[in-house]
Order: sequence, then structure tokens, then C-alpha cells
Amino acid sequence: MAQVDRQQWDVVVVGAGGAGLRAAIEAREQGARTAVICKSLFGKAHTVMAEGGIAAAMGNVNDHDNWQVHFRDTMRGGKFLNQWRMAELHAKEAPDRVWELETWGALFDRTADGRISQRNFGGHEYPRLAHVGDRTGLELIRTLQQRIVALQQEDKREHGDYEARLKIYQECTVTRILKEHSLKDGERSEMGVPPGRRLGGRVSGTFCYERETGRFFILEAPAVVLATGGIGKSFKVTSNSWEYTGDGHALALLAGAPLVNMEFVQFHPTGMVWPPSVKGILVTESVRGDGGVLRNSEGKRFMFDYVPDVFKEKYAESEEEGDRWYEDPDHNRRPPELLPRDEVARAINAEVKAGRGSPHGGVFLDVSTRMPAEVVRRRLPSMYHQFKELADVDITAEPMEVGPTCHYVMGGVAVDSDTAAARGVPGLYAAGEVAGGMHGSNRLGGNSLSDLLVFGRRAGLHAARYAAGLGARPVVDARQIDTAAAEALRPFSAEGHEPAGENPYSLHQELQQAMNDLVGIIRREAEMEQALHTLAALRLRARRAGVEGHRQFNPGWHLALDLRNMLLVSECIARAALERTESRGGHTREDWPAMDRTWRRVNLLCRLADPTGGLAATDPVRGQIALVRETTDPIRPDLLALFEKEELVKYLAEEELYQ
Ligand code: FAD
Repeated sequence: MAQVDRQQWDVVVVGAGGAGLRAAIEAREQGARTAVICKSLFGKAHTVMAEGGIAAAMGNVNDHDNWQVHFRDTMRGGKFLNQWRMAELHAKEAPDRVWELETWGALFDRTADGRISQRNFGGHEYPRLAHVGDRTGLELIRTLQQRIVALQQEDKREHGDYEARLKIYQECTVTRILKEHSLKDGERSEMGVPPGRRLGGRVSGTFCYERETGRFFILEAPAVVLATGGIGKSFKVTSNSWEYTGDGHALALLAGAPLVNMEFVQFHPTGMVWPPSVKGILVTESVRGDGGVLRNSEGKRFMFDYVPDVFKEKYAESEEEGDRWYEDPDHNRRPPELLPRDEVARAINAEVKAGRGSPHGGVFLDVSTRMPAEVVRRRLPSMYHQFKELADVDITAEPMEVGPTCHYVMGGVAVDSDTAAARGVPGLYAAGEVAGGMHGSNRLGGNSLSDLLVFGRRAGLHAARYAAGLGARPVVDARQIDTAAAEALRPFSAEGHEPAGENPYSLHQELQQAMNDLVGIIRREAEMEQALHTLAALRLRARRAGVEGHRQFNPGWHLALDLRNMLLVSECIARAALERTESRGGHTREDWPAMDRTWRRVNLLCRLADPTGGLAATDPVRGQIALVRETTDPIRPDLLALFEKEELVKYLAEEELYQ
């Protein structure tokens, strides 16, 4: 058996973004000895990049706002495919999570009368996003870190050790969730396990490596919370940073938990399009929330031509009405630039395709003619610097060029709404972007930061309770450690490594290109079939991905390991997108352009085709993923009663309406 260092915890949280930190704080406060492990530096998680704000119906700027309106907006944004219980909990609990941040030291922007200020965002009926300029994620992470330090100081006082009950392992990557193995009769009596007790299948820890040294180690724990964020690095043009390689999605699949509705990938309408080196970097929606408008090469505010029927009553019909809304939202309808992201992204795509794009293949987003320069610099400081430094564009004087960029994945680990427990794997939990269901087919801006806080807390709470409620702790299966070590070392001895070994960087580029071109913003059957063939070929080649050198900080090796995850996740997206023959939210089929009410009740679950998790054995043509259709639970009547009947008719299937 491979000799690896082992440490024991009650709860291991994989990921130190907003979801991971909130989960860790909760687990530790429940008394669980908690470890947080993250592959980036502590404090550098993706959450830091969040700009616009945290959506929470506090009603500080418009007192008509409440959880019911937030719930309605979220369900509309997700085109009613949301796991409605999650959307309900989220809308109800988000305000408490924001106020709690304030008590922990977060410094939000204020209203004139001193309350937490809230800004407008696409799809939100009222100003709802609590924010700190356009650097909200940074403040959120800073506050959660500060809270962690406070808890560690408490532990120092009580136990003489800062890390007695809460420890951070930074720049370390988890490559496998470990589970106990089913004991044979002889082993049972040897270990004193009573005959009736069910063993096998429960989480027992994580297999990890230190990025700097390449050293392997095990964190043993009966409960693991996945909080690893998204999948954007599988696409060529993305707002996501290097960490977003779908690790948590793949770890869950490999551990036996299903992923739900992976076809729904959000393409944010406004990423930078120029210069090429920064293509995809996000231009926050606050630019439009604060008054920015979209124009095509003819100078036309084209979004008025793209308001879909389901949203017609809620959006302005003329520029004048849209402009009046900023001053008087109670008597005017909002401008269509503030439609949900999927609608705006498709509209931009259509304008560019029709030859009315900007010189570098986007459209124009203008604040310079809408706000004084000094207001732009105060309200959008990061955007001002981002364009000045990266593109030499002064956004107070000229428009930005923007276009769609892969931004967020709505699909993710199928979880229980209340407890965040992953389905089918006792001891596994998931929260934040890695978890599926909350946002349905399309996430509203600002609803991720609130999701991280609400479900991060719930995951930490239930993971700690689960760990405390166990009798004997699950035993780590030694064979799984050997297999995980061998898998991690394979790139150093890849078959045919010299001269035919595959370069992980080239494989990654080919994967990103294929996903961008074939499973991108507009999808077609033949292209997705082609994508599945390309993925199968890449998967075979990835088995020969070879790296040179040694295990000490070797980014090529790290990427070779991440490729397994990106290939798994990409196949889930392509297979589910091919299966869903309708267009809804972040999934647009050119060959099936309409939303189909009969699909509203269908969740697509992805599972590993070979449930033993042995990737080697899977058939390259059939692929690694098996799809299962599942009927969603009917929406609770009191929640349905929050909508007008005429609206429900647009979304619900016939049998649901009768019920
Ligand atoms: P993250 O913050 O990404 O954290 C993931 C963590 O997991 C990291 O610590 C990473 O190191 C770790 N990790 C990953 N894989 C492994 C592994 N194998 N082993 C160990 N550790 C691992 N949402 C909003 O609501 N409002 C906004 O204004 C907003 N603005 C955004 C702006 C940008 C530019 C982007 C890209 C996104 C924005 N979002 C916004 C979305 C939101 O920021 C993310 O969805 C959210 O931060 C995800 O948080 P998380 O805790 O799930 O994951």
C-alpha cells in the first residue's frame, strides 16, 4: 500500500470560495473539527471575482420587495425548472445571510439613510443586489476569512492551537473522494464490526496532493462538502479562471452521485471581445443595471426587438419608458437590456450573426453617454480600470465592445434541497456553483453569491450533524488509496509517452475549441454528435497524456489530472444537450427553438456508465456517461399561488395545470 500521510477530521470542505468558507464556519460552529482544502491560495477563490452583488430581498431601496417576489423572479429566470424548494429557501434566507455578513464586518455601500444599498440587475423586479462598488466578491471572501481567523483565535485560547478545530490546506488538490469498502466476514470480526451494521458506500475521506511538492496525503472524514465552483475552463471563451475545471462535478460522479441538468450552461452576454488575450473577461451586469445600454453597429438599441412573449408585460416598449424607469420604477417598465442573461446573450449573438456587430465581433455597451465620468468611476471602478489597462479604452468617453462568454453552470451535483446532501452517497454534500437545481435553466445575476451563503451554511450544518450522529467512523479503503495514487502518477509513465505522448496543453485547447464550437451558445444535433465523437477521441488520447520532470510544482502534471474532470463534465453537457429537444434558459437548440412545456417536468441525470468508477474500462464509443430521465416533483400549491394563472399557462405542463 502506498505510504501517505493521514489526518483525521469530522468534516472536510473541498473549496475555499464563498460556499466552502460559509460551510466551514457553520460546521466548526456546530462543534465539528473541520478542514478546508483548496487548490488556489487561500483568499484567491473564484468568488473574489464576483462584481455586481448579492441578491437578497431586504427591501432597503424599494419596500415592495420581499421573499415571494424574489422567489418569483428566480423561478421565471430559471424558466420554472428550478428545484423549487431550493429557490424558496434561498429567497427566504438570503437577507439573513447578508445581515450576518455585516455583523461579521462586511462594509456594504449604503443608501442615503444609512441602510445597505441595493442595485438593479437583470431579471430582478426591484433593486436587490447588496454590493460593495463592483468588488462585492472580494468583500464577501474577506469577511468570511476574517470570521475564520476569529474562530481560530478562539481555538487558540481554548486549546492552545489555532488549527485545533479549523485548518486550511491551501494549494492542495483533491483527486478522489474515498469511500469505505464493504467488509468481508473475516474482516468484520477482526475489526469488531457488528454483523448487522451496513458498511460500504459511505464517504471516508479525500485523496489529495500538495501542488508545490507533489506529496500525496489523505484527509480522513466521514463527511465531505464539495464547494469547488464551476466548469468554465472546458470552453475557449470564458469569464472563469484556471481553477474552474469541474473538479467537484467529476469527484461526485466518480463517487457515485448523479449530476442534474448539465445541459444548462450560462453564457454571460457581456464579456470583453478585444484584445484577444483578454477575450471572455467579464463586464459586469451592473453596467446595465446602472444605466448602460446596448447598441449595434447602426447605433440602434436593439434589445427592444428581442423581448420574448413570456416577458412582454414586464419590459418597456420604448427607449423613453425604459429610461424613465431608472428614476420612477413604480410607474414604468424596465428596459430590455435588463432581461435575464440567456435572452440578452442570444440577442447579441443574433445581431453579430446578422452583420450588425462591432469591429471585433461583439456589440457596443455604452455608459459614457448615460452617466457623468465621475459617477462611472465611482460606481464601476473595476470596469473603468479593466478597460483602461487591458484594452486602452476609457469607458467614461467611449463605448465598450462586448460579446457572450461562458460564465456559469446551472447543472451540478443532485442534492437534497434542505440538507445539501448529494444523492446516493452518504456523507457527501455539495454547495455553491458545483451543486445543481437551484437556478433551473438560467441563473439570475446576484443569485449565486446568495446561493453560496444560504446553501454553504446548510451544507456545513448538515455535514456536521451527520458526522456527529455516526457511531463508528467509516474506514478508509486501502486499495482505493493505491488506485488513486497510481491514477495520479500515470502521466509520468504514460504509454507511448516518448515520442508519441500527448501534450496536456494541446489536448486542453482542442477540448475548449470543440466545446465552444459544437456545444456553445447555439446548439445543433449534428454538431453535438460530432462533439461526442471528438470527446471520445480526446479521452483516448488523454490516457496517453504525458508530462516531463518531477512532482514538484509541475503545472503540466496538474493540467493532465484536471483533464479527466473536464472530459467527464464536457461529456455530461454534450449528452444532456443532445437529449433535451427544446430551448430553455441556457440551452438553445437551433433545431428545437421553442420551449416545450412537457420538458418542464424532466430532469436529466448523468451517472457514470461504469459505476465502479474505473474509467479505463469504459467503452470509448458509448462514452463514460449514462443519462437517465427523471420526473420533477410538482411545485407546492402555495408557491404556485404566487403566480397569475395566465403566466403559469406559459410554463407548466398540461397535467400540472389540471392538478
Ligand atoms: P469558488 O469561489 O470558485 O471556489 C471554488 C474553490 O474550490 C476554490 O477555492 C478552488 O481552489 C477550490 N477547488 C476547485 N477544485 C478543487 C480541487 N480539486 N481540490 C481542492 N480545491 C478545489 N455571482 C453573483 O451572485 N454576483 C456577482 O456579482 C457575480 N459576479 C461574477 C463575476 C465574475 C467575473 C465571475 C466569473 C463570476 C461571478 N459570479 C457572480 C458568479 C459567482 O462568483 C460564482 O458562481 C461563485 O463565486 C462560485 O463560488 P463557489 O464558492 O461555488 O466556488
